[in-house]
Amino acid sequence: MSDERSRELERRLALLQRIASTTNLATGIEVALQAVVDLVCGHTGWPVGHVLGADGDSLRSLAVWHLEDAGRYAPFCAATHEAQLTLGVGLPGRVLEQKAPIWVNDMVGRDDLPRAKTARACGIRAGFAFPILVDTEVVAVAEFFSSEPLEPDAEVLELMRTVGTQVGRIFERQRSASNTVFDALHDALTGLPNRTLLVDRLSQLLIRAQRHREQPFAVLFVDLDRFKVVNDSLGHHTGDELLKTVAVRLRACVREVDTVARLGGDEFAILLDDVSTAEEAIVVVDRVLDAVNVPAQLDGSEVVVTASVGVALWDESYTSPSDMLRDADTAMYQAKSDGKARHAVFTSRMHERAMKLLRVQTDLHRAVERGELELHYQPIIDLAVGAITGFEALLRWRHPKHGLVSPLDFIPVAEETGLIVPIGRWVIDEGCRQLARWQEGRTQHLSLSVNVSARQFTGSALSTALVGDVERSIAAHGLLPGALRLEITESVLIDVGIAEATLEALASVGVGLALDDFGTGYSSLSHVHRFPFDILKIDRSFVAAMGDGPKNRGIVRAILLLADGLGMHVVAEGIETLAQAIELAGLGCSHAQGYYFSRPLPLEQATLLLDENQGQGRVWTLAPDEAKVS
Ligand code: C2E
Ligand code: MG
Ligand code: MG
Repeated sequence: MSDERSRELERRLALLQRIASTTNLATGIEVALQAVVDLVCGHTGWPVGHVLGADGDSLRSLAVWHLEDAGRYAPFCAATHEAQLTLGVGLPGRVLEQKAPIWVNDMVGRDDLPRAKTARACGIRAGFAFPILVDTEVVAVAEFFSSEPLEPDAEVLELMRTVGTQVGRIFERQRSASNTVFDALHDALTGLPNRTLLVDRLSQLLIRAQRHREQPFAVLFVDLDRFKVVNDSLGHHTGDELLKTVAVRLRACVREVDTVARLGGDEFAILLDDVSTAEEAIVVVDRVLDAVNVPAQLDGSEVVVTASVGVALWDESYTSPSDMLRDADTAMYQAKSDGKARHAVFTSRMHERAMKLLRVQTDLHRAVERGELELHYQPIIDLAVGAITGFEALLRWRHPKHGLVSPLDFIPVAEETGLIVPIGRWVIDEGCRQLARWQEGRTQHLSLSVNVSARQFTGSALSTALVGDVERSIAAHGLLPGALRLEITESVLIDVGIAEATLEALASVGVGLALDDFGTGYSSLSHVHRFPFDILKIDRSFVAAMGDGPKNRGIVRAILLLADGLGMHVVAEGIETLAQAIELAGLGCSHAQGYYFSRPLPLEQATLLLDENQGQGRVWTLAPDEAKVS
């Protein structure tokens, strides 16, 4: 990477980190938004920035402006207050409608926008607006204007998308905070110190530590895992009760001198005084993790939650409370992405990781636009006859510098940034297009399996979009719906309500539904039974373990029996040896895929393999004494 590009990424990361600190410290929404707008204008050099709040279909100015020259842009501010910028109207109205950023290269000739004329008169040429989202709901729209015409810049768009999500957290917090401000320094729900008081105490600890080096301390950032699920499934009352319970438990984990604060939502922070090493802090962290995890009886339900904890240890380089909170927050995110229900201690390496993530994120955005993504296809074999009955489409990224990148390395980033939605749409459509070509002149029975990410299931808007995308692609390529199979991992099923509705809708479209990686996640028999799955994919870890002894074989046999009882088909994954294939066939497993048969192949090779297989030139047999290919 060139130095210049490196510097540019550093600059972006610095912007995101400053915004993170600002949003962490913010006590009021307007103050925080003002700081964010100023930061973005400072970063981009654009002279005008503004935020509007959304309320249903209407938008109103939040009186948050950044104006490089107040006199010059006054008519534009006035026009903004006069214009009825509602759903679909003007730049912000369109953002509200499309829930996506919009870029106007030049106000010249854009009299479809109500403020274009005034904007031009004030010397404004290009405009750019993006949504501030809480989940999939637009809660506000930020708009920025430049004095030069500007072509859309994909990297800026991507950066602002991230900013939009970050800023959404301020709104999320305000929502979950109580309305009765009974005490400016305490949280109304739990009675714990609030953010203001926490920051004040943290400042004092910092001052003290700078004076007397021998009095170090640590900051813990505690965030409950999947709190939203509790709220959505058991109701807000139970959610509140849970927060109160957690507050009491956290208090019990620490000494009188330590501060436990609620930052908002399901976020808590703890100041641990007189702690100098990570080991000392971790003793308390373990206590916190255990305490949170004790089942709670709330409103007649037993609720079990876990927490992710980030730890920042004081050192001399810290000068402001926001930096320390930011690092504890970064570490908390690390703990989440390592799998939740655990802690992470902030290290400077996390900064590098954040840089890497940002790099993948920007590169990935371009990858989508430049067509660097491709599908590879792994055949699925009917074990009884050794014939290919379908393929699983597996995504690959042909990176101009790093070569073929595995989906395991970029799907999580795509999920985090929301890019998975356009990518997922492309995968479905491209897969359907290819299947239609394969079916031509061959067999109509050939099927194609496509993986769908959990993110495509979150929120009713995305789920509806997914069902629409599937219907459109099937129709566009003239496929029978049953020829397409969507593979879904168990993690999707956590948000039960939405998952169930979406799966039912997909089932009524007629596509096949496969439960992927069965047995690795939250599998419970109730899932299999409750949702309209017709295929169960046995995870390759079970196949690999089969050789280790009769007990493991018993598990596979039990899964096969279960599937049979529920009328589901089974595909075993990860068959690497002839012995495994024979064993599975012997247990009554009908279909399989794995390196033994073929690795995932690029399109041309997959087509060749299919033709050979259908022309009987290449059939896999399971007789142990015969060669792999007869
Ligand atoms: P998956 O859906 O469980 O796909 C099977 C993975 O196992 C693939 O890894 C495949 O290459 C690998 N595999 C197949 N046979 C064998 C074998 O015999 N031995 C071993 N060791 N591995 C085998 P891959 O292609 O790296 O994909 C990893 C995961 O990424 C997939 O797991 C899937 O969850 C996800 N993924 C792939 N493509 C997409 C996509 O288009 N969208 C989404 N959302 N996720 C995708
Ligand atoms: Mg799969
Ligand atoms: Mg799988």
